[in-house]
Amino acid sequence: LSAKSPRIVVLGAGLQGLCVAMALAERGAEVTVLERRPGPMREASYRNEGKIHLGFVYALDRTLETGRAMLSGAITFASLLDRWCGPLPWPRWATDPFRYCVMPGSLADARQLAAYYTQLAALVPEVADELQVEPGYLGRTLTWFWRSGASGAEAPVIAGSRAPLFETEEMAIDTRQFVPALLERVACMPSISLRCGSHVVGADRVGHRYRIELETTRGRETMLADVVVNCTWADRTRLDATVGRNDPGLAWSYRVKHRVIVRPRTSAGIAPITMVQGPYGDVIPFRDGTVLLSWYPVCRTSFEAAPPGDGPAAGPGDAARIADGTLGALAEYFPALRGAEVLSCDSGVIVARATCDVHDPASGLHGRSESGIRGGDGWWSIDTGKLTLAPYHGERAARQVCEELGLAWRARRGA
Ligand SMILES: Cc1cc2nc3c(=O)[nH]c(=O)nc-3n(C[C@H](O)[C@H](O)[C@H](O)COP(=O)(O)OP(=O)(O)OC[C@H]3O[C@@H](n4cnc5c(N)ncnc54)[C@H](O)[C@@H]3O)c2cc1C
Repeated sequence: LSAKSPRIVVLGAGLQGLCVAMALAERGAEVTVLERRPGPMREASYRNEGKIHLGFVYALDRTLETGRAMLSGAITFASLLDRWCGPLPWPRWATDPFRYCVMPGSLADARQLAAYYTQLAALVPEVADELQVEPGYLGRTLTWFWRSGASGAEAPVIAGSRAPLFETEEMAIDTRQFVPALLERVACMPSISLRCGSHVVGADRVGHRYRIELETTRGRETMLADVVVNCTWADRTRLDATVGRNDPGLAWSYRVKHRVIVRPRTSAGIAPITMVQGPYGDVIPFRDGTVLLSWYPVCRTSFEAAPPGDGPAAGPGDAARIADGTLGALAEYFPALRGAEVLSCDSGVIVARATCDVHDPASGLHGRSESGIRGGDGWWSIDTGKLTLAPYHGERAARQVCEELGLAWRARRGA
């Protein structure tokens, strides 16, 4: 950037905020990141299932636009983070590949899903070509993408027999390992200054700049910025509105969803499985022998048109009930989970455009193609959409910010 660098402030230190900061820092910018919590990456970017989506769960978006978006995010996820942070040990954090199980009552049958997966597979080279990258994925190259699989000991038991499965190349990463390693790298980046315990209350325009109002442990403060990138996820549209950037689109939904981590008595017969298509769940065994469980009817505890308050989403009694309910429901399908020890139950907020829940095939929750960057004139706002998309959106946002500033940026083709 130029000798007299503009002051760039990123709001929110989730994966999205950190990715924008790293992409800007790579271009020579000095970036301040404001975070309301005592530390970074403590909300949705930590408390999620870690799946780096290849698009398989978005079979109801017949336009394929969500599949295309997820592929763009997935095939650049590791390479962008490696570029900004130095090589990261993806195989150590990644699960085995996911299998997909079509549940009774699924919103799409096996034939429809197979047709969709075939279309999705055809998009892989197209998306890679467009982005001018190799179809790399968490340190590997995508090759077979999906196939009809056999029904093994890991398949759920449905109506007394093991259900058929689709095999895929999709994987999840263990956020409990990924997050601390990422933060260690970010802490060594001198151009990124992280200010935690800084709750952004609002902002307004002062001449060509933005005055950001903060609440910190020292009281109220203000900060001037030439450029603001709003990555606050559940608080994002509220903050945009304080500078008159009202969202023109469809209504937003805010769901609180829990993840339950257990230690089964044996890891035999437990593989990563996603149950589709509708309000079902996932079983995600990690390399350390723990297993993440999610059963939508129990784990999704609220669906609102406004963000939940700041306090804990569930009290200790609720967390125990959610963990037991989830384990009980999934152990019906996966006998290997019976008797597992519950280790933790936490939750995060999922923000998406929707007015009804996933049981409705018309729900906006079946797509994420509209996520991404909006703004200009010094105020940018990123709807992350999914963890999968954070580096991809971060790179594009940094490019747009620098283009608007009319500053040179070090273009590197090939994420
Ligand atoms: C249970 C669950 C499972 C999920 N599973 C997956 C999955 O498998 N794969 C996938 O791709 N995605 C998944 N997601 C979605 C994914 O977690 C989110 O899309 C992603 O983490 C959002 O990243 P973010 O940085 O925008 O938000 P966050 O990580 O929430 O970061 C926003 C940050 O902004 C801070 N902030 C907010 N308001 C203010 C303010 N006023 N002032 C200062 N700071 C503020 C917050 O404290 C937070 O640190 C899941 C989400 C949940 C909840």
